[in-house]
Amino acid sequence: MTATGLIGQELILKALRRAWQRGEVNHAYLFSGPAGSGKETLALFFARLLNCHAAGESPCGECLSCRKISGGHHPDFYRLEPQGASIKIEQLRGIKEMLHFFPREGRKKICLIQDAEHLTLPAANSLLKILEEPPENLVFLMLSARPWALPGTVLSRCIQFHLRPLTPDQMALLLQREYPDLPAEEREFIIALARGNPGDGLAMAGQRGWEEKYAEAWSILDSIENGPAKEIWPRAEEISKREDLSTLLDLFALIYRERLLARLGFDGEQSIIKKRFGFYNKGKDSFSASPVFLEKISRSLLDLQGELLQNVNKRLALEVLFLQMRGAV
Ligand SMILES: [Zn+2]
Repeated sequence: MTATGLIGQELILKALRRAWQRGEVNHAYLFSGPAGSGKETLALFFARLLNCHAAGESPCGECLSCRKISGGHHPDFYRLEPQGASIKIEQLRGIKEMLHFFPREGRKKICLIQDAEHLTLPAANSLLKILEEPPENLVFLMLSARPWALPGTVLSRCIQFHLRPLTPDQMALLLQREYPDLPAEEREFIIALARGNPGDGLAMAGQRGWEEKYAEAWSILDSIENGPAKEIWPRAEEISKREDLSTLLDLFALIYRERLLARLGFDGEQSIIKKRFGFYNKGKDSFSASPVFLEKISRSLLDLQGELLQNVNKRLALEVLFLQMRGAV
C-alpha cells in the first residue's frame, strides 16, 4: 500500500518518514483515534515502510516483505489483541522471548498492539520492562481509541500521534477514489453523516441508498413532531426494534444539526436541507423551533447514542426522546 492510501494524515506520515530516514525510529508508537479513524492502516503503513525491500518514501506494497505483512504472516511481525475483555500477561509472555531475537527477515521486529487500553496492569508492566531496555530492532505500534486509559508510565515511553478527522474535501477525495461510481448526492449525505471518520464513510458508501434513508428519517420525524400524540408509544416500540436504529439516530442528529445551523443563519451551501428544502417542505414548521430547543434535542440524540452501547431500555429511551421532540417534556 502506498501513502495515497492514507488521506488526511500527511503530518503523521511526514513525521514517520523523517524518523525512518534519519534512523531515529523510536521503540514505541501510539496511534490514537476513534474506531474507523485509520489507526491500523497507518500502523501497517509504518510496519511495511520499516521493512520494505524497496526502501523508498513509501512501502512498495509489492516486495515479499510488504506482501507478508499485508497477509499477516511476516515472521518479524507480531500482533496482540484482546482475548476476551483484555490483553493478558500470558499473551505478552508468549512472544516476549521472540521479541529479543534479531529480526529473521526484516530490518525491524514489529509488535502491533490492537486496543492497547485493554492491556491488564501486569501486561502493561511487562511491556514497560521491555521498553526500559528494548532490543535494538524492536518497535511496538500501539493502537487505542481511549489512550487516556493507558498507564502513564507506558504513555511516557511512546511517541503519540492522534489521528484527525478528515475534512469534507478529504472525505470526498477518499470516496471518489474508493467508490468512483458513487452518485454525487449519495456522496454528499455520506460526507455529512460520517463526520470525518474514513472507516464510517467507506462502510456507508458500501451500503448506498442514503438519500432514501434520509428521506425516511425526515418522514419519521415529521410524524413524531406533528402527528397524533398517541402514535408516540407504538412508534417508539417499532423503532426500538429496528436493526438500523443507530443509523436512524445519526440521521435524526444530522437533521437537527442542520436545522440548528439554519436557525442560527449558518445554512451555507453545504447544507443538505437547504438544497432539498422544497422536497422536504413538510417539516418546515419545525424550522421555527428555538435554537435552545434544537440544541437540547441534538444533545439528547448524542446521549442516547452513547446509552445504546450500554444496553438501556431502547423503547423507554425513545419514548422520552420523542416526547422531547414534541416539546412535551
Ligand atoms: Zn515493499
